[in-house]
Amino acid sequence: MGIKTPFVSEIAKNTYAINEFGLTAMYLLVGDESALLIDTGCGACDLKGLVAKLTDKSYRVVLTHGHLDHAGGIGAFDEVYLGEGDFEMAAGVDTEELRNYLDTLGNMGGYDVYDYTRDDVQEAAQLPKMTAIHDGDRFELGNRSVLAIEVPGHTKGGICFLDEKTRILFSGDACNCNLLVMGTSVNTALRGLDYLKTYDGRYQQMYNGHIGYAGIPTCLSLPESTLDDCIHIMKMILDGTAVIEKVPFLGGENTCAAYGTSRVSFDPERLIDKDETPRKL
Ligand SMILES: [Zn+2]
Repeated sequence: MGIKTPFVSEIAKNTYAINEFGLTAMYLLVGDESALLIDTGCGACDLKGLVAKLTDKSYRVVLTHGHLDHAGGIGAFDEVYLGEGDFEMAAGVDTEELRNYLDTLGNMGGYDVYDYTRDDVQEAAQLPKMTAIHDGDRFELGNRSVLAIEVPGHTKGGICFLDEKTRILFSGDACNCNLLVMGTSVNTALRGLDYLKTYDGRYQQMYNGHIGYAGIPTCLSLPESTLDDCIHIMKMILDGTAVIEKVPFLGGENTCAAYGTSRVSFDPERLIDKDETPRKL
């Protein structure tokens, strides 16, 4: 018998990490007046019911980005806020692809620990209203303010959320130890992380969109050097000094380079897009 319900950790006061069977992580931030749910996961659990157990306050739903493992559960909600560049992706989540993702992570160890199946993902009956988040937008929760920071790279419309109350940055997949540059050139992704770097000193911990990956149930924040390591790797990729490797990933193969705590996967054909100004290295 495995774990049947997503487990919830209180990572700071009134701040909950929800680990959806090691597939993805959602976060619930509760203020004096309202709450904020960051990401909707794969839709493999009753997220709405779970949030209702944690708070009776009204809440808004925001997405760090539009990938299926973060936007897969949007069908349960009336409105979601996300970066405009990811609208199409979030609206087009394919149920069969999502079920295959559950299987892949299940077979990587998830099925040894968690009691879920691919059929837990239901086709969304309808899509919510999508409202654009822009850089600098704030979500006021009552004595708690959460700032949106646009960080393109992993996807075009990636958003990180800075909770000034707990000094935690919720980075989604835009910055983590296994950063996949999938939505932009490496050049643009590096600029995105440069911008995130300007927020140094305003947070003490960074939680990303995947805690307790596959069958490893942990609830740890990312190592402090993650952002610097990712920036360093991207600079090496662009100046030609990176040691490039091919590694297996989710049934395919990624081209990547590593340094320190982190690894960055990228498309070798997309270092700098045609109309872009190369960042000074
Ligand atoms: Zn993603």
